[in-house]
Amino acid sequence: MASPIIESALAAGRPLLNEVEAKTLLQEAGVPVTATRLAATVDEAVEAATELGYPVVLKVIADSIIHKSDVGGVVLGLVSEDAVRSAWAQIHAAVAQAAPAAELDGVSVQPMAEPGTEVIVGLTRDPQFGPVVMFGLGGVFVELMEDVAFRVVPLEPRDAHEMIREIQGFPMLDGFRGRPTADLAAIESLLLQISEFAQANPEVHELDLNPVFAYESGALAVDARVVLASEA
Ligand code: ADP
Ligand code: MG
Repeated sequence: MASPIIESALAAGRPLLNEVEAKTLLQEAGVPVTATRLAATVDEAVEAATELGYPVVLKVIADSIIHKSDVGGVVLGLVSEDAVRSAWAQIHAAVAQAAPAAELDGVSVQPMAEPGTEVIVGLTRDPQFGPVVMFGLGGVFVELMEDVAFRVVPLEPRDAHEMIREIQGFPMLDGFRGRPTADLAAIESLLLQISEFAQANPEVHELDLNPVFAYESGALAVDARVVLASEA
């Protein structure tokens, strides 16, 4: 039996879960994600910010918008009700310009996370191998250098251990030039959780946690994207 979030998205013919749905689903699976709430109005955004605690982040939520910051849809570090209200207006103005056809469902509201080393965890389904988990560092490491590691589901603890260490950027997580050492065990367990999630949710066609902040203690996904298989 699929999760109600997946069921209702499929029933509505929406293959792309929004950030709030994706994070809720992942949180239910035990994956560490920022608490994230959907606000359909500016007053709801203020209420969510008050309940979650400042500083917060606002992000556009619309079915047709996949890359939120590309359309000016992400505003970080909001410290007050006034800041939330102006970020709401700023996002609506930016999106109206960059994606005039988009129908907004509102914004997501979440606490601003402490900075960490940005990594990416992904899931794709290969026609030949089935579900495959991907790991890499964030930013230019993935985009420019395609420095990523893959393993076929189900992952064993040893797979998770190896794939983190085989990317060229691994020193970035391991104290390079005085950088903090990331909690590699936390990243390993995140990779194993995504492998289990893929097995438990065959309707999930693709998943991206981009970025996950890797800390000296723990790891936290601040963005999540889930695509359902249209024929599932
Ligand atoms: P996009 O759809 O553009 O990928 P993201 O949700 O990934 O949007 O946000 C863009 C960037 O903003 C992230 O790469 C991250 O650096 C930062 N960011 C997003 N959410 C948070 C958060 N909760 N706390 C701190 N930084 C965040
Ligand atoms: Mg992102």
